[in-house]
Amino acid sequence: MRVAVIGAGLSGLVAARELRECSEVTVFEKSRGYGGRMATRYGGGFEFDHGAQYFTARSSEFQQFLEPLIAHGVVANWRAQVAELDRNALLTTREWDDALPHFVGAPRMNAIGQYLASGLTIRPNTTVTQLDRDTDGWNLADRDGYALGRFDWVVCALPASQMVTLVPADSPLHQLAEKVQMRACYALMLGFDKPLRLPWQAALVNGADISWISVNSSKPRRVKKFTLVVHSTNAYADANLETHASAIQDHLLQEVSEVAGIDCGKASFCQLQRWRYANVDKQPGPACLVDEEMRLAGCGDWFRHGRVEAAFLSGLEVAGKLRALVE
Ligand SMILES: Cc1cc2nc3c(=O)[nH]c(=O)nc-3n(C[C@H](O)[C@H](O)[C@H](O)COP(=O)(O)OP(=O)(O)OC[C@H]3O[C@@H](n4cnc5c(N)ncnc54)[C@H](O)[C@@H]3O)c2cc1C
Repeated sequence: MRVAVIGAGLSGLVAARELRECSEVTVFEKSRGYGGRMATRYGGGFEFDHGAQYFTARSSEFQQFLEPLIAHGVVANWRAQVAELDRNALLTTREWDDALPHFVGAPRMNAIGQYLASGLTIRPNTTVTQLDRDTDGWNLADRDGYALGRFDWVVCALPASQMVTLVPADSPLHQLAEKVQMRACYALMLGFDKPLRLPWQAALVNGADISWISVNSSKPRRVKKFTLVVHSTNAYADANLETHASAIQDHLLQEVSEVAGIDCGKASFCQLQRWRYANVDKQPGPACLVDEEMRLAGCGDWFRHGRVEAAFLSGLEVAGKLRALVE
C-alpha cells in the first residue's frame, strides 16, 4: 500500500513512522525543515524557538514515546522559574518541577522534527496543492502542476484552515475542518549582546496584548547568547492580522518593555513572525478522521486542542486506525 502523508509537523511525522511498518510512506512538506510549529528561527547569530514554547505529557502514550527522545538528549526538562504577571505587577513565581515536567526540544525545538524525520522518505520544499481522486487512488500535484505520484491513501496532517483549501469539499474531513476556527499569534524575537537581569525565566502575562515572555536562552543546552521570545495574545493577533508588521512590532516592543521593565532598545536583533494558524481552543473531537470510502484521513492538533500532545495523539490514532484497516 502506498501512503502519502502531507505535512511534516509532529502529527504527520508520528503517523508516518507508525505507518511505515505496514506501507510505503512518502511525506510531503512545504518547508525546508521538519517539525512544523515546533520550530526554531536563526538570525544574527541567535536562535529562537518562536512557535511552541514547551510541552507537557499527561498521557502514558506520549510519556512512553518521549522516553527514547529524552535518552538521546533530543528532549529535555525545562525547570524554569515562571512568573505570573498582571501587566507589570508580579503576582506569583514558582518553579516548574518534576511532578509535571515541562519539556523542550534540545538543543532547540526543531531538533525533535529532525530526529523523527530520520529514516523516513520525505520531500521537503514541496507544497501539495492538488489532490485528484480516481477509481482506485489519489494523484498528487504541486503548485506548478508537477505530478508528485499516485497513492492508495492520503493522510493530511495540516492545520484545519490549510486542510480546507486542499481536501475535496465533499469529504467529511473538509466538512469537519471548516467548522474549526484557528487562532493567530505574533512572535517577537529579541537577541541581546549582554544578558538582561530578570527575576524569572518565563512569564505568563495578563492585562496586556502579550501573553507570554520566555528567556529562550535559559532552556536546556541553548547557545549562551541571551534571547527573549514574546508572544502576543491570540485576540490581538486575530484583530490585527493585516496590520503592517512594523506597527505590530513597535506595539509589542512597547508592551514587553512596560510589562517586563526592560529596555528593548538594547536588543541587537529584533524580528517578528506572524503565525496565522497558531493554535486552537479545545474541541470536542474526534482525535482524527479516517474516511474508508474515500481513502482519505486527517490528523493534527486542531481535532482536540492546539497543543503538542494533542498533535502527537492525533497522529498516533490516525496511524492505528489505518493499520487496523490494512493489516
Ligand atoms: C506561536 C505558537 C506557540 C505555541 N505554543 C505551544 C506551547 O507552548 N505548548 C504546546 O503544547 N503547543 C504550543 N503550540 C502549538 C503546537 O506547536 C502545535 O499544537 C503542534 O506543533 C501542531 O502539530 P501538527 O502536526 O498538528 O501541525 P503543524 O506543526 O502545523 O504541521 C503541519 C505541517 O504541514 C505543512 N504544510 C502545510 N500545508 C502544506 C501543504 N499544502 N503541503 C505540504 N506541507 C504542508 C506545514 O509546513 C507544517 O510543517 C504553539 C504554536 C504556535 C504557533
